[in-house]
Amino acid sequence: MKKIVFFFFFIFFSYIYPLKAVEVSVRILSTKVITSFIFSPIEGNYTVYGDGVIISDSDVTGIFQMNIDGDSIQLKTFERTIGKYGSVKMIAKQNDCAFKIKSVQPESKVRSYEDNLMVTIAPDRKQFFLVNKVDVEKYIGGVVESESGKRSNLEYYKLQSILCRTYLLGNINRHLYEGFQVCDDVHCQAYLNRTLNKDVKKAVYETKGLVVVDNDLNLITAAFFSNCGGETCNSQDVWAVSTSYLKSVKDTFCLRQTHAHWRSEIPLNDWKSYLQLKHNYPIEDSLKFNDATSFEQSNGRAIYFTDKDLKIPLKTIRSDFQLKSTYFSIDQIGNTIVFNGKGYGHGVGLCQEGAMRMAELNFTYKQILNFYYKDVHLVDLLALNYFKQE
Ligand SMILES: [Zn+2]
Ligand SMILES: [Zn+2]
Repeated sequence: MKKIVFFFFFIFFSYIYPLKAVEVSVRILSTKVITSFIFSPIEGNYTVYGDGVIISDSDVTGIFQMNIDGDSIQLKTFERTIGKYGSVKMIAKQNDCAFKIKSVQPESKVRSYEDNLMVTIAPDRKQFFLVNKVDVEKYIGGVVESESGKRSNLEYYKLQSILCRTYLLGNINRHLYEGFQVCDDVHCQAYLNRTLNKDVKKAVYETKGLVVVDNDLNLITAAFFSNCGGETCNSQDVWAVSTSYLKSVKDTFCLRQTHAHWRSEIPLNDWKSYLQLKHNYPIEDSLKFNDATSFEQSNGRAIYFTDKDLKIPLKTIRSDFQLKSTYFSIDQIGNTIVFNGKGYGHGVGLCQEGAMRMAELNFTYKQILNFYYKDVHLVDLLALNYFKQE
């Protein structure tokens, strides 16, 4: 299925890509239940459509408020109510248009985006669907900044651009049946704003069209996370799916970075009842009690917690106690259990803080890519088209 989806997109993408900008439909502010918001252009001018008919096409910058009124969108300016519609579109009249959105109900911070905004009401009639129809490369810029912050360097941003582009193409139909392609939450990729960062923009431009494929020319699962704590994970140990490229590597580059270490504590009694009730762990047995209160991963990452027969996955413990990673030791201090941990995130694929450090040490984005992903290749979508036709 994945191959078919990819193939469809790659045909679509490779024919249109050189001719004009390709757009992606992203549901923005997707984690909020919005019933009222304000739209205002920042750059350029917009044509406003209500149910497909032009309502406003002036070159004067307008500020609009939209509210849900029954099953309709009520469109207003500050002076007057314009009308009620099933759908409203704000279509950019030039190439470099940008707009601001401020959610009024519920109240939220102002966010800014580029290109077009499509507004409909969700089937439950309780919230807006706000979809930013935006040039793919502009979207990638917003994702790169949202996923990696503003303080990395150009080489790192190039790598992150390629990974975010690869991820997008592999997940392009994730929300197809909801009327958009991807959401702006971590469920797909975080996309919190347009980017104004010059290095991010340059990185996206200089890697335009580049994606990562495996030996069979299939897009890779471009997984990444914050910090591995010294060793990344095999994909089959975390997701039960084995790939040729998501293999564990030892990584010393992230060891002094922000998320290299963490510590968390819980009451001893909570730990005992958790093991006993959830996992039938024989905590009353004194040897087993010792095992449960002194656990180490001194020879690299383990997959299971201490008891070989019970096989309690460390990822279950991580999730149940909301720990930053599965790479932790356990000690008992009085009536407290202390988790001393390394790294932050699921551990599969690219370690962002390690990759950022490598970029600072002048490794190229290709070297960093090949350090974290095994036997992968960078290809231009156009070249991929050529190979696939052979
Ligand atoms: Zn999503
Ligand atoms: Zn690392």
